[in-house]
Amino acid sequence: MELINGKTFWPTTFASHPHYPVLQENLSCDCLIIGGGMGGALSAKLLTDQGIDTVVIDKRDIGYGSSMANTGLLQYTNDKTLTSCIQTFGEERGVRFYELCRDAMHHLEKFHRSLR
Ligand SMILES: Cc1cc2nc3c(=O)[nH]c(=O)nc-3n(C[C@H](O)[C@H](O)[C@H](O)COP(=O)(O)OP(=O)(O)OC[C@H]3O[C@@H](n4cnc5c(N)ncnc54)[C@H](O)[C@@H]3O)c2cc1C
Repeated sequence: MELINGKTFWPTTFASHPHYPVLQENLSCDCLIIGGGMGGALSAKLLTDQGIDTVVIDKRDIGYGSSMANTGLLQYTNDKTLTSCIQTFGEERGVRFYELCRDAMHHLEKFHRSLR
């Protein structure tokens, strides 16, 4: 399935295009992440920071899934509003979900600074 087509913006921001080797042999690791998009990359960073031997593999170029097409908008709100979450999941879970989204934004902010 083609996740994106046409020219996307993010590659124009790369100083040099990152290339990763093709996996050509067996390897062992504690944690294998299948998919090197935003989700896989952030998970890999968290795991390796904990000293867990982690490998990320992807059937495309790393980062060329839907992460490459996104508009870069970061917000703690979700497509489903807090009111709607509460109606569907109950107040405790709905509010907790939004608290986790807010916490994730704070983590991303710190993480971003650590990459400079
Ligand atoms: C047009 C567009 C605009 C968007 N705008 C925003 C935005 O402004 N803000 C926002 O927060 N989100 C936005 N999103 C959503 C956001 O981009 C995605 O939620 C996010 O990139 C998903 O990340 P991911 O790592 O889960 O998936 P992906 O980035 O798609 O990564 C999954 C990876 O897994 C690999 N993979 C899949 N199956 C296999 C397999 N069997 N074996 C090996 N590898 C495999 C794929 O090749 C891919 O690289 C947008 C999405 C699109 C399409």
